[in-house]
Amino acid sequence: MCIFCKIAAGEIPANIVYKNEHVTAFKDLNPQAPTHILVIPNQHLESVNDIVDDASALVAGECLRAAREIAQQAGLSSYRIVTNIGADAGQSVFHLHLHLLAGRKMSWPPG
Ligand code: AMP
Repeated sequence: MCIFCKIAAGEIPANIVYKNEHVTAFKDLNPQAPTHILVIPNQHLESVNDIVDDASALVAGECLRAAREIAQQAGLSSYRIVTNIGADAGQSVFHLHLHLLAGRKMSWPPG
């Protein structure tokens, strides 16, 4: 089981801020902004590359919906959602996750 599967299953601790049938969200251990939350599907998808059918698309959509709800509940008017796909894009954990980042001015393009 991968590390994010273990967090979703409650087998290792995390600072969980949101959980439902499809999705778990928790604070990033190494935050890159005042708000930095990871939103993951409870089921293992490696990355966006695994969104290949209706079931995986539903779960990915639930991740986006959860991110929006978390942002709204936190009163965030601006925020960024990032997902890295593959090592060269910066992916280090191979379980699909959305980075929800907020609380500072963001630059563009990302490095
Ligand atoms: P990425 O590099 O896009 O794959 O993002 C992985 C993120 O997971 C990084 O921002 C890490 O800081 C974060 N991370 C890794 N392990 C944990 C953990 N056990 N709890 C919380 N965040 C983690």
